[in-house]
Amino acid sequence: MLIFERNSELKIYLDKIRAESRQIGFVPTMGALHAGHISLINESKKQELFTVCSIFVNPTQFNDKKDLENYPRTPEKDIEMLRQSGCDALFMPNAEEIYPKEDTRVFNFGELDTLLEGALRPGHFNGVAKVVSILFDKIKPNVAFFGSKDYQQVMVIKALVKQSNLPVKIVACPIIREADGLAMSSRNMRLTKEEREAAKLIPLLLNESKLLFKARKPISEIKGFIASKLAQKPTYKLDYFEICDPQDLHILTDKNEVKQGIALIACFVGNIRLIDNLLLD
Ligand code: AMP
Repeated sequence: MLIFERNSELKIYLDKIRAESRQIGFVPTMGALHAGHISLINESKKQELFTVCSIFVNPTQFNDKKDLENYPRTPEKDIEMLRQSGCDALFMPNAEEIYPKEDTRVFNFGELDTLLEGALRPGHFNGVAKVVSILFDKIKPNVAFFGSKDYQQVMVIKALVKQSNLPVKIVACPIIREADGLAMSSRNMRLTKEEREAAKLIPLLLNESKLLFKARKPISEIKGFIASKLAQKPTYKLDYFEICDPQDLHILTDKNEVKQGIALIACFVGNIRLIDNLLLD
């Protein structure tokens, strides 16, 4: 696996790949890799693409400075995992390579940016759009792979591609989970043993919400049930639990007659903020 820190060197190399008529698959990450990230690499490899992974902890998407400082960084382990996965190239730029001058662009994703994560993390998706558009411009991938764990993020990226007319196909990949159902996340490694044990409640509650949705319980009742379960747990602080339309993330109410929904949750377990989601049908 080739490792690049500079745009200029990466560009020369990828130009050669393109000249050989090879297609490029891209997996952007913030590192502290786990099997969820590797599943995206595997999907790109399965599609026989020259696979580029990036590791960049993007400062513009953190609205909490402490969160940025505390974000886990495990570069040696990441490189080893990527080598073993068969990833072809890794781009590990520093902040000056990505933002040589301040990026003042303001994107407009409409309601998508005001709901759920958008409401609780102002500026987050604008920062995501900045970094992804810069990385797409440098790597010029044919296909880019994102995890459905960050469901709203995938929708924002699709909107970005559409409104900027970018020639890249976006592939959303399934959520990879631990044996007890907890969605894999770089943040999980920061949970204490007790918090990690408590965190398995999140997928259990999502599954319960699926059963209640199937049984056609009112959405208000499902939301009340989840909130009351978490209120009993002192380690938890619920940011939101919503049932939305999977097509546009519109928040559903009992008035909406829909066959399919998506349950999305964000909560703190101790000091660690976790998100997860589950399709309901
Ligand atoms: P991150 O490093 O957290 O920015 O994630 C990089 C990419 O990996 C994003 O597209 C995430 O949605 C995806 N990802 C993170 N966790 C998982 C998971 N458990 N399963 C599948 N994809 C994931």
